[in-house]
Amino acid sequence: MTRVFSGIKPTGHLTLGNYLGAMRRWVDVDQHRSDALFCVVDLHALTVDHDPARVRRLSRQAATLLLAAGLDPQLCTVFVQSHVDEHARLSYVLECVATDGEMRRMIQYKEKAAQERERGGSVRLSLLTYPVLMAADILAYSADEVPVGDDQTQHVELTRDLALRFNQRYGHTFVVPKATTPQVAARVMNLQEPASKMGKSEDSGSGIVYLLDEPDVVRKKVMRAVTDSGQEVVYDREGRPGIANLLEILAACTGGNPEALSGVYESYGSLKKDTAEAVVEILKPVQARHKELCADPGYVEGVLRDGAEKARAMARPTVDTAYRAIGL
Ligand code: ADP
Repeated sequence: MTRVFSGIKPTGHLTLGNYLGAMRRWVDVDQHRSDALFCVVDLHALTVDHDPARVRRLSRQAATLLLAAGLDPQLCTVFVQSHVDEHARLSYVLECVATDGEMRRMIQYKEKAAQERERGGSVRLSLLTYPVLMAADILAYSADEVPVGDDQTQHVELTRDLALRFNQRYGHTFVVPKATTPQVAARVMNLQEPASKMGKSEDSGSGIVYLLDEPDVVRKKVMRAVTDSGQEVVYDREGRPGIANLLEILAACTGGNPEALSGVYESYGSLKKDTAEAVVEILKPVQARHKELCADPGYVEGVLRDGAEKARAMARPTVDTAYRAIGL
């Protein structure tokens, strides 16, 4: 059976980008057709300046939202990365296979390191080695597929390179995984800055739709989305990124095609209105279930405890094999 692994970082409140780019496929497709693990990757949240209590709170919130979105612990394994020591154990071994040059070439490292320096802060070593820990997350479970948004494909490529290199040098140990991305909304853009990704860790929230935003907040954010001075609704990611983004969001929410939808609308206003309503509708059941789960914290805790136990049992043999293979 295909093994799927994917994760989400508790660095901020989860966004519509996380949902359309990744979570929704985990719920609708991956957990039904594969042996799947979904992880709140809290170790990755320590790579930039962080508040310990906030990380802990956001980890719990992310896990609750994964369940609220529809991940079913009877079908898949949901857990928190730091509950399973194998991730950190394997990460060190992979650091002995990776090179500093390939880490420094990672786009996300370059962007985030530049942001840290702009703020006058220093860059944590863990920000540089982040992709190695991510490779460990994936390889520890012998995952065949990694369903992600397209901002993560470079990291999955690196994971493949490390797995192949390790296997070649130390004997076959790891499954070589591949990234899968959605056809529509693989990269949801910020509504205020359509040139940048809608990412949860940005400071200003007005261009970001959060999964727990109230309907009126969603409507306001979508109606105020930056477009351009044109009139005609056309799907052109390069020339009309704001409109293309709205068409992609609408298509992803309604199961349509952004190009075909562009022919349906005669004004930006009506496109925005329908997009806002489609987002409100898609978030409604997730928010309702989230509310129920918040009233039952013991349930979420139990799911995460069982999930960690199952995950540990799956990861340990592979990590032990890697230790023996590399000479430990
Ligand atoms: P971020 O911190 O940027 O929200 P994470 O690293 O926690 O992202 O990503 C969790 C998943 O959500 C990943 O598969 C990532 O590719 C996906 N994702 C994040 N932002 C977006 C976006 N704007 N559009 C599409 N997918 C996204």
